[in-house]
Amino acid sequence: MTQAPSNSPSLERHLEGRVALVTGASRGIGRAIALRLAARGAKVACVATSAERAKATADECAAHGVKASAFGVDAARTTAVGELVNQVVSEFGGLDVLVNNAGITRDQLILRMSEDEFDQVIATNLKGAWNFCRAATRTLMKSRGRIVNISSVVGLTGNAGQSNYAASKAGLIGLTRSLAKELASRGVCVNAVAPGFIETDMTAALDEKARAALLESIPLNRIGTPEEIALAVDFLVGPGGAYVTGQTLVVDGGLSI
Ligand code: NAP
Repeated sequence: MTQAPSNSPSLERHLEGRVALVTGASRGIGRAIALRLAARGAKVACVATSAERAKATADECAAHGVKASAFGVDAARTTAVGELVNQVVSEFGGLDVLVNNAGITRDQLILRMSEDEFDQVIATNLKGAWNFCRAATRTLMKSRGRIVNISSVVGLTGNAGQSNYAASKAGLIGLTRSLAKELASRGVCVNAVAPGFIETDMTAALDEKARAALLESIPLNRIGTPEEIALAVDFLVGPGGAYVTGQTLVVDGGLSI
């Protein structure tokens, strides 16, 4: 049974009335996570670089009968992220789930990588998540909420041409473990999900030859779907995740084994 599962039509709404903020929610993995949490009954704040870009996802979330709105911010901008989190908390009446999913790549071998390419990736992927965690922590301590950071298998294995990206994703695992220790006594669980190759805009650039070579290295012999990452997040923010903290859940079809 290796094919991707489809979304079950009637899900238990274990997040009914809870508030979730998902970054990078305009497309790909973030969109799938936002929709899954909405299907569980959560009110969803969908964040992308502009509210306009996240609006379609927010509208799809609202079709699940929940409050959902689109917000825009550059995750790398600390002050702006703080203001946005405050706005979400006041408009939605709190915050229970934070999913740090916004991410970019600027791949290049190190001899050709510019300082700017390194800085941009660290600022968006790692500092961006830290910005949201710091801004949301006080509220999450009150709600005994959950944080999920979307890392990557390359944060565990490394990858040629991705020294900036792999460093940012390994950094997210350190951030996850540190906050798990820091916030456990306040009832906040903090975990990471490390996807392998998932079919999104980020991986669409692969040519046929690279794709075929990649498939050979994936034991389950297929690229994953955004919904399969959303299922892992769903587990971590649901009842199954209540006694799980500081972990990195690898969802990669066996790529990293
Ligand atoms: P994607 O399709 O390229 O979408 C990226 C999302 O991040 C978009 O919603 C984008 O918003 C948002 N974003 C980018 N820069 C931002 C910034 N500075 N501030 C706020 N939002 C920003 O990516 P994806 O493939 O779904 O990946 C989602 C996450 O999973 C990323 O962290 C990625 O590293 C990780 N991941 C992906 C794969 C994969 O194979 N796809 C594998 C491992 C890990 P806009 O639409 O406004 O640009």
